[in-house]
Amino acid sequence: MQTFYWKLQKSSDNQEINTRAARLIKQGEVVAFPTETVYGLGADGLNPTAVAKIFAAKGRPNDNPLILHIARQEDILPLTTGLNANARKLMEKFWPGPLTLIVEKAAVVPDAVSAGLPTVAVRFPSNKLAQDFIKACGCPIAAPSANISGRPSPTNAQDVLEDMQGKVAAVLDGGSCGIGLESTVVDTTSPVPTICRPGGVTYEMLTEALGAVEIDPALQGDKNFKPKAPGMKYRHYAPKEPVYLLEGEAVGLLPQLTARALAAGLKVGVLCGAELAQKIPAHDKLLLSSWGDSLERLAGDLFYLLRDFDRTRPDVILAAGVSEEGLGLAIMNRLRKAAGYQIVTLENGALHLKNDKHLPEFMIQ
Ligand code: AMP
Ligand code: MG
Repeated sequence: MQTFYWKLQKSSDNQEINTRAARLIKQGEVVAFPTETVYGLGADGLNPTAVAKIFAAKGRPNDNPLILHIARQEDILPLTTGLNANARKLMEKFWPGPLTLIVEKAAVVPDAVSAGLPTVAVRFPSNKLAQDFIKACGCPIAAPSANISGRPSPTNAQDVLEDMQGKVAAVLDGGSCGIGLESTVVDTTSPVPTICRPGGVTYEMLTEALGAVEIDPALQGDKNFKPKAPGMKYRHYAPKEPVYLLEGEAVGLLPQLTARALAAGLKVGVLCGAELAQKIPAHDKLLLSSWGDSLERLAGDLFYLLRDFDRTRPDVILAAGVSEEGLGLAIMNRLRKAAGYQIVTLENGALHLKNDKHLPEFMIQ
């Protein structure tokens, strides 16, 4: 299939492009578009045949439901049988923005969108380019992230094209996404509102707005819990090479472990903050990706850096964990998934790998 590439202008209403894109959506085709979180792969959310094309383009498992994107607060009303006080409070406080609400589903929403669940996920993005596109379509836009399932989400149009060229009708290029991590997903139907996926709207912001908020215990990677968001059970964000995530005191050992991996002849990818990066000497087999010291910068660059390792192909990747406060909770969730929960900690002076796996050779003294 031919994939149209259309560049959006931030300073204009892009009417002509949006009219063409909306025509494709009405014909049941799939169009990728920018939002403030990551790029989405959009289709008419009320048309099951169009929605099926999203799953096909991504290779997404059918049991992983999609988020419906709207461009006006009130457009949630026909999609749900009712909003409780918590849902209303969150809409008032955080919409438009990087917050997805799980609400009771109305019959008009196809089962293909909700993967057969009695609930549906809805978001009102703040990105003006996304809003104009959705308004032009005149229907809720079902959209997951615009990557092949399992890969890191795309945060610029080139990364979308890398995964979707030839598989979708058009890609709208709106430049880099500001936040860089997917939206926070909150289930408002449970007795205590529950974070199913951490994101740009943080736990701290949600508790300030609502009082008690739970975090889905399955997010810690404990296999005894089934995630409330079906998508959270899948391997995700993973570069093609093994990733080891250092947490707690083990983070400080990153320069040493890098040196050992290099000494073992491995090509080593390293992902860490600027301060730690300064302690790692240059080496021709070292691929060092460091972020400036704000969590916002790391969130914005994380998926791009992870995807970059698929281009530079190290043998192993070592990543430094961060504190789980604020945006750190969402960043650590993505890093843990990218690492397939291969988490390295320091216990009583010895390195340990979580989930009873074996440490790689170069980490054993
Ligand atoms: P994506 O669109 O790829 O960013 O993923 C959307 C996330 O929201 C996935 O983790 C889904 O499993 C989750 N999700 C969507 N709808 C629901 C729902 N009705 N209940 C629980 N989780 C949902
Ligand atoms: Mg996704």
